[in-house]
Amino acid sequence: MQPKPFALDLSSAAFDALEPGPRLSYRELFSPHEDLPRPLRRWAAAHGIAPRALTRRDRQLGGTSEKHLFGLRDGYAVESVLIRRRDGFTACISSQVGCAFACQFCASGQAGLKRNLSPGEIVEQVVRLGPKVNRIVFMGIGEPLNNYDNVLAAIRILRDRRGLDWATTGITLSTIGIPKGLKALREEHLGVNLTISLHATTDETRGRLIPGAKKHAIADVVGSALSWARRHNRIVTFVYLLLPGINDSDADLHRLIGMFRNEPARLNLMRWNEVDGLGFGRISDFRLMQFRGHLERAGIPVVVRDTQGNRIDAACGQLWLRDLQGQAVARAA
Ligand code: SF4
Repeated sequence: MQPKPFALDLSSAAFDALEPGPRLSYRELFSPHEDLPRPLRRWAAAHGIAPRALTRRDRQLGGTSEKHLFGLRDGYAVESVLIRRRDGFTACISSQVGCAFACQFCASGQAGLKRNLSPGEIVEQVVRLGPKVNRIVFMGIGEPLNNYDNVLAAIRILRDRRGLDWATTGITLSTIGIPKGLKALREEHLGVNLTISLHATTDETRGRLIPGAKKHAIADVVGSALSWARRHNRIVTFVYLLLPGINDSDADLHRLIGMFRNEPARLNLMRWNEVDGLGFGRISDFRLMQFRGHLERAGIPVVVRDTQGNRIDAACGQLWLRDLQGQAVARAA
């Protein structure tokens, strides 16, 4: 049996096609409340549509972040994080239940991919985090380009003028950089921001850190991302987690300079905060500043960030050690 569609799976055109009548507006589907208004609930029941996809299971508060655990209708769960910035709030959202890529520094990938999220399950995370959200990052659980069609459908629903009317410049896709997905994204008329988790300068090292990306040559990943940037007249951000003895050699530094000198690219150098059991060391301040200095002297813009370990007051991100490890929580009632 086909699962019921969720209300937020619908584009405004699909909503209209269901002839909701003059009293019901598409905008009301985006209410941040647990329940939709009663007339919309009646309309949804009449059309075999599930009014809501997510049930709030847990909320943890930290210094600048709130981590929300949402139960899905099939018993899985996803996490989404609301992060307070100086000028607003960012929703860090998930695109899949689990992840197929098994990055060595990410708990979400260790249990494998369970399933893709539907467009409505993605959109509803933003809606449920509340109206103060003014930036969205796809940095939660899952690889967004591995769920390309649903992620793009979700972005279109978020942009819909009759719904939230979201500006795509406020949306960031963070990906390990699947070349096929990047090439497809290049052809979309979407002004999203793009962040690529690079983490290595050789295919061998990258394959060790991101086993699921072994078949993607670095040259293809970087080339496809830069091609997207040139086509859209944008800067693409590459994230590089510096791990001593693994990807911090002089040869790595020179390869990075070779890749990004005179290109529309910026580098986020990240420093690992040691967390239990993962066996990665922390790069020294001296080596970090050496990398930064050489890259900047080569004309490459650099930002330095700490990864956040497992603190709730941390910004979320692909490097965040998550507590669910992609496992199903109790079955939904
Ligand atoms: S870092 Fe991202 S791509 Fe890698 S396993 Fe985690 S969720 Fe998947």
